[in-house]
Amino acid sequence: MTEIQPVYNVSTEKPWCCPRCGKQLGAVYRRNDIRHLRIEHAGLVVVVSMGAEVTCPSCSQMRTWHPGQEAMDELIEKSKRNIFKLTISPT
Ligand SMILES: [Zn+2]
Repeated sequence: MTEIQPVYNVSTEKPWCCPRCGKQLGAVYRRNDIRHLRIEHAGLVVVVSMGAEVTCPSCSQMRTWHPGQEAMDELIEKSKRNIFKLTISPT
């Protein structure tokens, strides 16, 4: 589903950048507990909630976005931080 609508909830947005050159392609935000990707293109704001393929205007790298992606990234980051590290020296 793709819709065009006014922007709000800007404070909770997270930038969504090109994996190759780092250019910001859009922003991810939450509304009604659903993650949306907001892309500004040619003066229009396009909001995507079902997944998108975006081509970077700078380097033509394509990046795919899914609503669950951000949640997954957060979980991975959390699990990295909370991982229990133990080094057992050889006896
Ligand atoms: Zn790029």
